[in-house]
Amino acid sequence: MKQTVVSKISPATPCSECGTGIPQLPTVVEFDRQEIHVFDPVLCPACLLSLCERYAVDCANCGGKIPPFSQVGVLKTETGASEFVHMTTVCSTAGSAFHGYWGKGALADYVQVEAC
Ligand SMILES: [Zn+2]
Ligand SMILES: [Zn+2]
Repeated sequence: MKQTVVSKISPATPCSECGTGIPQLPTVVEFDRQEIHVFDPVLCPACLLSLCERYAVDCANCGGKIPPFSQVGVLKTETGASEFVHMTTVCSTAGSAFHGYWGKGALADYVQVEAC
């Protein structure tokens, strides 16, 4: 019996920052004791880490770092400024009326959750 092995040979995807070919997505790095998996944008581990260092924000709840390209909870302070928290049960409290997606040093996209 002859078996045909279907292998998907796709060319390595180039890193959107430096152009290094990435054999496998998501890119996984460890940053501030958190494991980060990023599919989009395509980044090699070195570029992803440097973006994390440049664009991470402090969590208003636990004081840890929130890496870019991850979900964040958004708190509005009394002064109208935004504070960010991890989207975890520990950090994201009932007071977070928004959650969004933290991009390169700015909210890439966020939605308001119905709060009553
Ligand atoms: Zn790169
Ligand atoms: Zn936190």
